[in-house]
Amino acid sequence: MVAPLHFRGRSVVDGEPIELWSVDGVLTDQRPAGEVETVVDGGWLLPGLVDAHNHVGIAPGLGVTIEQARGFAAADAQAGALLIREVGSPLDTHPLDGDLLGPKFIRSGKHIARPKRYLRDYGVDLENPDDLADEVRRQARDGDGWVKLVGDWIDREAGDLAPLWTKTQLADAVEVAHAEGVKITAHVFGTDALPDLLDVGVDCIEHGTGLTPDLIDVMTDKQIALVPTMIQVDNFPSIAEGADRFPTYQANMRKLHQTAGAVFAAAREAGVQIFAGTDAGGFVEHGRIVDEVDALAAVGLGNTGAIAAACWSAREWLGAGTLRVGDPADLLVLQSDPREDLAELRRPAAVVVNGEIIAD
Ligand SMILES: [Zn+2]
Repeated sequence: MVAPLHFRGRSVVDGEPIELWSVDGVLTDQRPAGEVETVVDGGWLLPGLVDAHNHVGIAPGLGVTIEQARGFAAADAQAGALLIREVGSPLDTHPLDGDLLGPKFIRSGKHIARPKRYLRDYGVDLENPDDLADEVRRQARDGDGWVKLVGDWIDREAGDLAPLWTKTQLADAVEVAHAEGVKITAHVFGTDALPDLLDVGVDCIEHGTGLTPDLIDVMTDKQIALVPTMIQVDNFPSIAEGADRFPTYQANMRKLHQTAGAVFAAAREAGVQIFAGTDAGGFVEHGRIVDEVDALAAVGLGNTGAIAAACWSAREWLGAGTLRVGDPADLLVLQSDPREDLAELRRPAAVVVNGEIIAD
């Protein structure tokens, strides 16, 4: 049994006074009988941060064990990311759900790609792209509510980014995903894969650096979310660097990098729902959620919008708790209002998971 904790301060979500207790890892507004430890009286309370694009099952070189994945998850949790949307892992990370002091997960299964059209051995490579819908069904049943496609990747014959799937294949995939009750998202760097993906109604776009004003309007109309993974987009020049054999692709990646900030600002301006994701697991280290918050603030989300994109808005989008009575006691305790200074997010007075302090 975990001792009850007491929190009194202001909510970062609305600035209002808030007083909560955690009992058996769950939030209540009723003071429990017996001994209670006051964690904070006068600070700021924030639901645990959300990393909406993260891979605890991936590291350079692959072969991640569940113990390594547990370590990556711990690094993210220490940085305040208490809910992770795991968007593609060759390793089944479900054993981590038993870790009461680790982050919570919402997973897609494995990436769905085609041979030579994604990072080798990261996901499922379909020899026959017409099998996409069947594979979506399989991955839907292995995940926790999401399926992830690779929407575009370098086509070595074309020498540039190109779509992996036809519109018919995508339409069938979306239909199957939704019939299975899951959402479907797609990795997309360039522009060409986007019109079909948006038209058939995927639920989210990962990266989205190739969005154009017209496509942004479609996202707004259809309420398709965007997880721009800005700190990963920072790596586009180094990805281009290693692709000397493909000069068109190289130039495209550099251009996508140069225009990314303006593209994401335009998406924000148009009202696209944007969420924070670090893409940790490949080039990006775990534990960097606040770096992504900083990056989002700088492209027009502002401090409050950037925190929301990594916190309560993302939690509502994913159907997770937001410090309401009955929610798991997953929260950050801050000394000052992070809407005034995002650096507050880097020095929480306490990080609480399931009613236990994991960092202070
Ligand atoms: Zn990723």
